[in-house]
Amino acid sequence: MEKNKKVSVSALAASALALIFQCVYPTVFIKWIVPLYAVCVLLAAGIAFLLFSALFTAKEAQKPVAKALIGCAVFTAVLMGITPLVNNVIFGAVAPWGSVLTNAVLMLAFWLVMLRLIRKASGAGLKWKPLICLLLVLIGFPVTVLTTAPNVKATGFIVLDTPKNYAARMQTIDIYENTMETAVPQTEVYDRIMDHLKAPLPEGKTEKKVLVLGWDGCRADAMALTQQRRAVDMLLADGGKAYVAYCGGANYPAPITQETATMEGWTTMFTGMWGVDGHGVTGFDKNVRTSKVNGFFTTAIEDGLIDSSAFCFSWSGHLETYKDEIAYDKANNINAAWLFSEGEEGGEGDDGTFEKAMGELQKPDCPDLLFTIFEYCDYYGHTYGFWGETPEYVEAFRRSNETGAQLINAVKARPTYDTEDWLILISSDHGGYVRGHGGDTLMERMMFIVTNK
Ligand SMILES: [Zn+2]
Repeated sequence: MEKNKKVSVSALAASALALIFQCVYPTVFIKWIVPLYAVCVLLAAGIAFLLFSALFTAKEAQKPVAKALIGCAVFTAVLMGITPLVNNVIFGAVAPWGSVLTNAVLMLAFWLVMLRLIRKASGAGLKWKPLICLLLVLIGFPVTVLTTAPNVKATGFIVLDTPKNYAARMQTIDIYENTMETAVPQTEVYDRIMDHLKAPLPEGKTEKKVLVLGWDGCRADAMALTQQRRAVDMLLADGGKAYVAYCGGANYPAPITQETATMEGWTTMFTGMWGVDGHGVTGFDKNVRTSKVNGFFTTAIEDGLIDSSAFCFSWSGHLETYKDEIAYDKANNINAAWLFSEGEEGGEGDDGTFEKAMGELQKPDCPDLLFTIFEYCDYYGHTYGFWGETPEYVEAFRRSNETGAQLINAVKARPTYDTEDWLILISSDHGGYVRGHGGDTLMERMMFIVTNK
């Protein structure tokens, strides 16, 4: 009976680990918590090892431990390999629930088959205890799904965040001058800034100035969050206008020609070009991460439109995309400041961006073109989901507006404000869907432009 007891204990322990695994894994995978993911890999390996060793012990096989180790390694590699594969290939990395379910089905199927084999091999030794654990897991998994869902709004993304519902939500926003069908291209940001700098100075004004508030990953339908829209409403109250715009190189439903992503989007705004036949950064060729042309931080100075420019940002990827331009500015004594703030995206980094921008605006002779990018929306979108019903995303939009409002107020508080002709513009590089962006859904492709004039 010693053998059967060993088998029974192993199967029971495996079942207990499986229970823990099924409760922890969905949250860990969906929120992508790396250290806990490693724990899940170990748990999966532990489950497989215990089940295999129970089976080989029951069969009285030679070298049961060595055989169990091999079985465990193969199973863990297959299980933990298939799941991200399903996530990336089938669901395009935007619907992790599909992969979590695949993982659960694989794990349960493996477990049931193993328990059956163990029962068969051990005769009456293994009774009903593992089956109780199975029941617990069957209960535990949906409980995890339900308790995780309110945080990531996974059910909401898949059921509610559809193109149809997005379009309906956009229709409730009354500040846009145009519709998604007549969306203006993202290059319009560049054009508007250039038009402003080239236009004659109005009566009583002696200097052209530009402030851009860039909100990385802010969706166009975030404007429906009217309670959190302070900076946007300030510009509109000054006689400004808001427009729906598109990124990705082509308006919906035409295929995108560049990824709806960060370096592609901002580079398009800085240069007035798309990646294809333009700045070269399309995202499709992962080796091309540096813009082929200089943006307006440099060209507007060379063309004599402005004396100085400054770019405040915290995403280190920009240092690579604009490295040629940064080197060019240094070599040619161009008065363009590349003000990078280190820190976790959406956290300290944005604080640094805010402080640096505020510092520039408080200088008597502030940069003529000041461009800021805040990561709040992108960071919280990637972490909790890009959706106007996600509390964290709403809060990110609110914070973007709060810091934006303070910078707008800093412009208006300038002693020389009355003699300066300011264009203030708010825009975003791309939208987002579930926890990502880069693809061609309506939710990722639409962005917006808000101006004070
Ligand atoms: Zn971005």
